[in-house]
Amino acid sequence: MTRPFSSRGAISMVSFILLFVLSGTHSSMARQANPEAVSPEPSSSASWLAEHQATAAALIDAAMKDSAAWDRLAYLTDTFGPRLSGSTNLERAIDWILEEMKADGLENVRGEPVKVPHWVRGDEKLVLLEPHERELGILGIGGSIGTGPGGVSGEVLVVSSFDDLAARKEEAKGKIVLWNVPFKSYGLTVAYRTNGAVRAAEAGAIASLVRSVGPFSMYTPHTGTSSYDDNVPRIPHAAVTIEDAMMMQRMQDRGHTIRVRLEMDALWLPDADSRNVVGEIVGSEYPDEVIVLGGHIDSWDVGTGAMDDAGGCVAAWEALRLMKELGLTPKRTIRVVMWTNEENGLRGANAYRDAHFDELDNHILAMESDAGVFKPIGFGFTGSDAAFDMITQIGKLLDPIESGLVTRGGGGADIGPIMAEGVPGMGLRVDGSRYFWYHHTNADYVDKLDPDHVARSVATMAVHAWVVADMDQRLPR
Ligand SMILES: [Zn+2]
Repeated sequence: MTRPFSSRGAISMVSFILLFVLSGTHSSMARQANPEAVSPEPSSSASWLAEHQATAAALIDAAMKDSAAWDRLAYLTDTFGPRLSGSTNLERAIDWILEEMKADGLENVRGEPVKVPHWVRGDEKLVLLEPHERELGILGIGGSIGTGPGGVSGEVLVVSSFDDLAARKEEAKGKIVLWNVPFKSYGLTVAYRTNGAVRAAEAGAIASLVRSVGPFSMYTPHTGTSSYDDNVPRIPHAAVTIEDAMMMQRMQDRGHTIRVRLEMDALWLPDADSRNVVGEIVGSEYPDEVIVLGGHIDSWDVGTGAMDDAGGCVAAWEALRLMKELGLTPKRTIRVVMWTNEENGLRGANAYRDAHFDELDNHILAMESDAGVFKPIGFGFTGSDAAFDMITQIGKLLDPIESGLVTRGGGGADIGPIMAEGVPGMGLRVDGSRYFWYHHTNADYVDKLDPDHVARSVATMAVHAWVVADMDQRLPR
């Protein structure tokens, strides 16, 4: 049986997110936006670009004129809720999007079938038994096994790192290990969520708790993926809040005994049917050449997955809707894709690569938004120097909304598989200062996103997609 989470998949997701976050931290330096200035001035001397300036300005104006994108995002996330792979919510959301895309006038609208893993959280709780009795807030980590009836009870050993546990291995036997590792960056800290259960079990622990992976907390536990190792016993694995991790650290430092009972009904069901959502504007001159843009439509089963990543999906989708609204037909095909199962399997991204493998030579560019549609500053691009130069020039058309910066290095988990086959790729870069406050929590709602920022994200994706699709020359590889 194939394991639902390959560690390779988990690493690729993490490293892509890390790229965004590292680059996103610079975004706080972005200047304040001037919402009035939405028409590009001629800012580039590149003659091939001149003919696209008016269209870019029209797309920016259309995106910025109202809150249509935010409204659609709110409708989607309020109506269908969180969308974990295998859930009815996810498939109902996809059904609705397909109908709406058709109503928007997009072409070749379809759901491309994908078999996805199906993990169900069930009821779960963590009860502190000693030194005082109280129920603590938790979220089981995705993919965890359940505890069985009655739960797992034991003494807690708080550790600060893998090395710390290695040094205290004898103490861990028969206990519940708590990884109290402060957030440095997502990439540096998430290893305790993904590998904590395996490493704790190797030391003989009966369950694993991890301090939520985030820089700030209002008592918000964060879920996410984890992996098991076939050679190590599987133990339950759940996230506690930063507050409770720090409290248990203080208790241990005082020499107090900490006892808890963890109860989790989590279970695995057989793989389920899902779909990658696809809609297009077919190109007038080179219909077989495709520019792909999108995000992932699945989410964790908490909050409403507005930031991660319904916002990215809607930003890409709205870019195409606005082109339709403006009566624009590009020379090449522009295709919005909403990948399924990014969060706990990457099956949608891999299925897209496999289903379109023979067309990948004609995939001109792939772009993804999966860092939250906060205030965009530009794109991180991965491809040849010649292509980077052109994308950098196109970015100048976005100077009026301050989202034109193009930097080296970027992509996304969902376009990763086709980028690995040589397709140039780029990921939307945004102000990342608050993303990990809400990431994979019950607080991921549309209110965390500003309608103005969502509109800018739409415009930023639209302008790049439009110019690459409509320019005379093919973007070089
Ligand atoms: Zn995401």
